[in-house]
Amino acid sequence: MMTNIVQFFRNLPAKVCTTCGHEIEEQHECYSNTCDSCNMTK
Ligand SMILES: [Zn+2]
Repeated sequence: MMTNIVQFFRNLPAKVCTTCGHEIEEQHECYSNTCDSCNMTK
């Protein structure tokens, strides 16, 4: 069962910025679906 959970997370698609479409890398607190640069322009 443990391996199934790991597989599940590995199969999750990378988070993508909804504004520019850039792949979002690990963020500690990600409330929005936008990347850092798009957050800055707000
Ligand atoms: Zn962006």
